[in-house]
Amino acid sequence: MQDVAVAIVMDTGRVLIGKRRQGTRYQGVWEFPGGKVEPGESPVDALRREVQEELGITAHHVTFLTATDHRYSDGGHFRVWYFLVTQWEGTPSMSLWEEHAWVSPDVLEGYALFDANRRILPQLRQYLDSSQDERFMFAALEQAELAAQRGEVPVGCVIVRQGNILAATHNRTEELSLATAHAEVLAIAQACATTGSKWLGSGTTLYVTLEPCPMCAGAIVLARIERVVFGAHDPKAGACETLYTITSDRRLNHRAVVRGGVCADQARVLLQTFFDHHRTRQ
Ligand SMILES: [Zn+2]
Repeated sequence: MQDVAVAIVMDTGRVLIGKRRQGTRYQGVWEFPGGKVEPGESPVDALRREVQEELGITAHHVTFLTATDHRYSDGGHFRVWYFLVTQWEGTPSMSLWEEHAWVSPDVLEGYALFDANRRILPQLRQYLDSSQDERFMFAALEQAELAAQRGEVPVGCVIVRQGNILAATHNRTEELSLATAHAEVLAIAQACATTGSKWLGSGTTLYVTLEPCPMCAGAIVLARIERVVFGAHDPKAGACETLYTITSDRRLNHRAVVRGGVCADQARVLLQTFFDHHRTRQ
């Protein structure tokens, strides 16, 4: 059995794949870059060497994803090791392929991929979603910081569809003298205005630094948002996991996939600092 190391090179939510050159075996098939692991080499070393040779990049941040066993049509039996490359130096060139493309994970299914690569797509989707989650949560945290600077309770929110930010805003209850001007409700309004649609629907993720309250969880259900990713849990008003589970209540006509606790410490520190500061001033 031969070991093969494969890289999923990621750039702002898209992955790099290449198409086998005409006149070569498997021509027209798309694949993630990689190659054979040489004797005495570890899979991760092989991966670093291969992406250097094939793409001309130096991989800095490499995470092991998974390994799978495969038989190819020509009788070869391979163990394929997958790694996620999220930080690198250089510009990927894909010199060994005729074509290459940066592709959103959402459309990968439609490409002529090797079975080996296709088999990990559901898992890859999860990994890509979760590494993207941190990135977009940083954007929501920036909004929360902006809120704190303006004397608002620091909660920030962004809404993302296919890697694009449709809305970015923060809590504005003080500025608008409006108890319902929560970050999520304002962000939903902004995203609906951007898209010209009352429903945001599949492929949409709402990132918010604090677990949504009952009002905002209700708004998420009404806007038919597919995923909700939140930072800190809220023991006083949390309505996705803590006090209520509105976004996953089967009696309502829509449910969202929820992931809580992303960058929770940063979100909590912002809130604590804000309330400590306001308490000492009073
Ligand atoms: Zn709310």
